[in-house]
Formats: sequence, C-alpha cells, structure tokens
Amino acid sequence: MESSGGVAEEKAMAATASKKVCRRCKGTFSPLENTPLSCRFHPSFFVCRRHDDQKRYYELKDGDPPYAAKFYDCCGAEDPDAPGCATDLHRSYDDDLD
Ligand SMILES: [Zn+2]
Ligand SMILES: [Zn+2]
Repeated sequence: MESSGGVAEEKAMAATASKKVCRRCKGTFSPLENTPLSCRFHPSFFVCRRHDDQKRYYELKDGDPPYAAKFYDCCGAEDPDAPGCATDLHRSYDDDLD
C-alpha cells in the first residue's frame, strides 16, 4: 500500500516557519538574524513627477521635459532598483508597522 499527499505540504510549512517575508523589502529573513541594519528600503514611494526646484537631483538635459521624472521621493534615486537609503529591522507581515 502506498500513502501519498500531506508530506510535501508539511515540509513546506516547516521550511517557511523559520523564514519570514519582509513586508517592506519583500525579502525573506530569519527573525534570529534581524538587526536594525538588515532591511534596506526607501521610506518614501517611487514617484513619477517633476523634481522639486529646491531639490533637483539631476540636471535636465536639452530636450528633457521638466516633468515626468521618476525617482524615489525620499532620496531622489532614479533607479527603481536602487538600494534603500534607510535601514531598519525587517518587518514581517505579523508585525505592526508603527
Ligand atoms: Zn530612498
Ligand atoms: Zn526588509
């Protein structure tokens, strides 16, 4: 007689029990190795609008429209994949954000 089913599911549950997904950087982390430097993130959103005149992070080139710049509102990084400008503990979906 062969019994099947259930085992693979249990293993998957066990594997995820020690790792949590960070709601902020979407990375997985171990709560045991979570330090205030573990999570790099941008505290503000990636926005698509004109840079403020007071904080222009880059020089417009000829022909560039003075609007529709895409950048992080917090630090001005223009690459969506730019490493975060702030660090903190990872926060799992079980934790409350303050
Ligand atoms: Zn930033
Ligand atoms: Zn994180």
